[in-house]
Amino acid sequence: MSGIAERACFCTTTRRVHIHPSGVLLVVVSLFLVHMSRVYADANAIRGKSWYEYNKFRIEWSSPDRYEIVRRLGGGKYSEVFEGVDTVNSDRCVIKVLKPVAGHKIKREIKVLRNLAGAPNCIALLDVVRDPSRMYHSLVTEFVNNTDWSQLYTRLTDTDIRHYTFQLLLALDFVHSHGIIHRDVKPANVMIDHARRELRLIDWGLAEFYHPNVEYHVRVGSRHYKPPELLVGYKRYDYSLDLWSTGCMFAAMIFRKQHFFRGADNEDQLLKIMRVLGTERFDAYLKAYDIPYETDVEELLGQYAVRPWTRFITAENQHLALPDALAVLDRLLRFDPRERLTAAEAMAHP
Ligand code: AMP
Repeated sequence: MSGIAERACFCTTTRRVHIHPSGVLLVVVSLFLVHMSRVYADANAIRGKSWYEYNKFRIEWSSPDRYEIVRRLGGGKYSEVFEGVDTVNSDRCVIKVLKPVAGHKIKREIKVLRNLAGAPNCIALLDVVRDPSRMYHSLVTEFVNNTDWSQLYTRLTDTDIRHYTFQLLLALDFVHSHGIIHRDVKPANVMIDHARRELRLIDWGLAEFYHPNVEYHVRVGSRHYKPPELLVGYKRYDYSLDLWSTGCMFAAMIFRKQHFFRGADNEDQLLKIMRVLGTERFDAYLKAYDIPYETDVEELLGQYAVRPWTRFITAENQHLALPDALAVLDRLLRFDPRERLTAAEAMAHP
């Protein structure tokens, strides 16, 4: 069967299982497990509702008088970000002014940040402020003297890459073990103070509590760092989403590319991935998870062979794209989320 026919037929076929009755239970259990995280699946259940029910928690807002804005750092869909100063202790800080967004989203971000107080390499929330008109809500966090990614990725040594990747994984293992998926890991959300060799994971606005077999929104993340499950609309994803994004960042570092998979839109993003990982593995993934994938983009229906990682080695990156690096990359960038290394497994890799 051609790739076109195969990918199209997933929309209409149902799985037929011919098995002895005694094996039925095993099949049911394994079908249930396939959609569940391999690790920390019960992290929220064991902590209870006061840990994850963010809608129910009351926020005490401070007055903004204590903080002064120094300069604008950036901004996006959901916020404007400023460098500020805390006039009480003269400390530098970051003031993230949230655009009027749904109340539950503000609560979720604050609850996540409070739950993660003291977590390794996660940005510390210092205060939450609201102006007297109650129109503007801001999060005050610690400041990181970040080097912009466009400058940084060209300068990283093998030791730097190992160090920063390990620090990011340390943050993610902690976050995941506490039942939270970041959902937007990308260079712009990984602040690196290169002089101090410190890393902080920021922007918890899309972070969510993980519960097994719950369907989540697939319109999260940032295009170049989105895993296949988001691009094919598979909603029962888990922590492994963050490990794909970490893999993309790692690939960018070891191959000295600003972004490794650089799609022009979501479909082109999937195409870029398929052209590296190959369509045979993509089809196997869709089949294993019973994902109905439809597209009218002709290129997405084609057949592509696996491109070995060694093909990306150039004179400029050969000192970074070493065998151990390619081996760990290969275990992060997998279509099947259950095949990806967990943060803890990746940390244990040479
Ligand atoms: P965000 O909307 O949280 O992704 O922040 C927008 C931009 O502001 C980031 O890409 C950074 O350049 C900058 N920024 C955010 N938080 C910090 C921080 N804690 N320290 C330094 N810069 C930050």
